[in-house]
Amino acid sequence: MDQFLQSYIALMCTAGVLQVILAIIAFHNRQVFEGTKTFVWLSVFSAIYSFGHAIELTSTTIDGIMFWVVFQYLGMPFSAPATLILVLQYINLDKLVNKKTLILFYFIPAISFLLISTNHLHHLFYKTVGIKYVMGAPLLDMTVGQWYVVHGSYTFGTLFIGAVLLIWYWTQTKSKHWKQVITLIIGILSPITASFLYLMGLTPRGIDPVPIVMLFTSMLYLWAILSTHWLKVAPIAKENIFESMSDGVIVVDLLNKVVDFNSIAGELYTSLKDGINLNELKGLDKKLGSLLINKSSDPITAETAIHLHNELKHFQVKISPVLKHSGERVGNIIVFMDITERARLQLQLKELAYKDSLTGIYNRSYFYKKAEKLTIASIELGEVVSFILFDIDHFKNINDNYGHAYGDEAIKHVVSIAKEALGDKGIVGRYGGEEFMICMPGFSAENVEIFANRLRADIEEKALTIGMDTIKITASLGITVLKSKDAFYTVDELIAKADRALYRAKNNGRNAVCIEEDDQIRDCLFLSSK
Ligand code: GH3
Ligand code: MG
Ligand code: MG
Repeated sequence: MDQFLQSYIALMCTAGVLQVILAIIAFHNRQVFEGTKTFVWLSVFSAIYSFGHAIELTSTTIDGIMFWVVFQYLGMPFSAPATLILVLQYINLDKLVNKKTLILFYFIPAISFLLISTNHLHHLFYKTVGIKYVMGAPLLDMTVGQWYVVHGSYTFGTLFIGAVLLIWYWTQTKSKHWKQVITLIIGILSPITASFLYLMGLTPRGIDPVPIVMLFTSMLYLWAILSTHWLKVAPIAKENIFESMSDGVIVVDLLNKVVDFNSIAGELYTSLKDGINLNELKGLDKKLGSLLINKSSDPITAETAIHLHNELKHFQVKISPVLKHSGERVGNIIVFMDITERARLQLQLKELAYKDSLTGIYNRSYFYKKAEKLTIASIELGEVVSFILFDIDHFKNINDNYGHAYGDEAIKHVVSIAKEALGDKGIVGRYGGEEFMICMPGFSAENVEIFANRLRADIEEKALTIGMDTIKITASLGITVLKSKDAFYTVDELIAKADRALYRAKNNGRNAVCIEEDDQIRDCLFLSSK
């Protein structure tokens, strides 16, 4: 046998063995990526083709040759649609691959196999079959039948569609996936080109180069597996992880140009697109902007608020350098972590420190703090400060007759009346239970008496209605006035004075206003309409 032919057969066997090894590796990794299973089939089909063709070339009788040609058709026609299926799975169109479409994809190859194995009965695949001697070896000499044309067109067509899809995907996908995609494109184009050259009679000595090209294709796939692990961790899986993160992520290069970002980041900044400079990002707050243009190689954290779906969201922003294996910095990765809930809880905690949870007015300790500041400021300005302590009359009865929930409503009702009456004339706080205090800077005894009586009358007049129930409420008020720095009292002492006046108001029949002035409790103002 010719030396060239011998080397050719040996190469083809090597291709077959490599296909088998690939099939085993891929089978081992079959759980990693759906396309891996297709790859196993593709490798098996290619191996059958390679071995079949190698043995065909060593056969000497027409029957022997035909047997091994038929054997090749168990693999070769199926490898083209398998390649297309693998491409579909690779480019995220795997929804097109299901039991029904698999039958469609493999229908024509199955018919091809059926027809070639029964060719002697109908000659639809090969019109005539004979032997020709090439390089001293007997090879199949045939003329093509009708179905051969269908088979050829289908094989070319599926590979061609696969190649077009991959090229389209290449234009859509990010540059970091190009290595794999280009490898696949070369892998798919090689057998197409080889078959084309063979059909045009441009291959050396009329030999079918496709099984050998399949060796090259196998090498590419093998390289793809070993160097880029595309079968193990498909780029799509990586993309999915990136996309499914709950944090917004933007990757920029050293010139602050956006290289990559996930959909959450895309929602935060609608003008975000590949290649845009961070400076041009709409809605980026200035402070954050200057931080993002970060030259330091240490990670930086900051906070920002972004309007999203009519809601103000708070984000913690972490800017970290992206380093190569060599340690060289190539850009920054910016992660936006939604801390809206945390910010809300922090605010709530802060509010709890000064707000009364039932009424929303200042709690006792915060009122004292505020009132003390107001008192000191007023006295320094030479102004008077008035304090009122008031308590709902017979409140226990409301609780007893209507229940605690109505009691709470009564407290909120009285507070809202007091807040409305007070406006910005002073501050109001909850002393405890159904007792409240008011501090009014600049209010003299005369003025505060008028205000207190107005408030008393308002509470009396504005009964609380809940559903069918109308609850009449009255309150008693005690007042004290701090007049000068010569006779300074702390807020605590002033409230105690007001409490004494309140006690008097209670003792004098309730729904009344009493005033403590110059350490004396004057007779109560029984200004009640009753
Ligand atoms: P007086 O006219 O003498 O003030 O009579 P009173 O019934 O109002 O007496 P007192 O001030 O002693 O009663 C306060 C009651 O208020 C006792 C307590 O059970 C109730 N109370 C305290 N805090 C709350 C609250 O937050 N909600 C409700 N519903 N009741 C409260
Ligand atoms: Mg009371
Ligand atoms: Mg009380």
